[in-house]
Amino acid sequence: MILILLGAPGVGKGTQGVLISKEYGIPQISTGDILRKEVKEETELGKKAKVYMDKGELVPDDVIIGMMENRIKEDDCKNGFILDGFPRTVAQAEAFDEMLKKNNLQLDRVLLIDVPEEEIIDRLTGRRVCPSCGAVYHIKNNPPKKDNICDQCGSKLIQRDDDTEEVVKNRLEVYKKSTMPLVEYYTKTGKLVKINGVGTIDEIFGRIKEVLG
Ligand code: AMP
Repeated sequence: MILILLGAPGVGKGTQGVLISKEYGIPQISTGDILRKEVKEETELGKKAKVYMDKGELVPDDVIIGMMENRIKEDDCKNGFILDGFPRTVAQAEAFDEMLKKNNLQLDRVLLIDVPEEEIIDRLTGRRVCPSCGAVYHIKNNPPKKDNICDQCGSKLIQRDDDTEEVVKNRLEVYKKSTMPLVEYYTKTGKLVKINGVGTIDEIFGRIKEVLG
């Protein structure tokens, strides 16, 4: 199964991607996570990407497309994969179509997760993440048991550099301008399904399972 999770930053693509990955046994590929790892390891790619990420801008298409071409060829992708954060522009979507064709693969579904903008801002600015194991919390909706400490590994939680209010607002603008056109792009293929992204994590996952069967 090949899935794309589409939606603004903060709608829960990462959270739902993890659950779908466990349920259906296919890897979740998050371009944001791959890039953050490159930034942390201070690779050439990471240094280049950080400049864009810190401002909430998109990393150039050629960098992302090259990165994804390699990633989907890896062994763990042979039964399918879930894309979280890619494609994010029409150019990336077209390049992805080419990758699928070249590898004789078929896209199954595009899940568009929909959440009102005010709730997105609250979710992102309140989000805290564990820099060691990647666990995600929210200061109000899903706080860790001990203030600012990861329940799973005991590390001190941090706020992502791009989750501050100013950068979040820019990320939403970038989403509207560059990524929203993909809603039309994939509606035309007949593969896009809209998922109500408001509710508990389990409720939303239930809606996704209904669609995926
Ligand atoms: P995310 O974790 O998906 O919100 O991604 C964090 C940041 O990584 C974004 O604000 C972009 O700067 C960059 N990024 C992630 N995925 C892409 C993509 N497909 N195209 C361009 N930039 C991306």
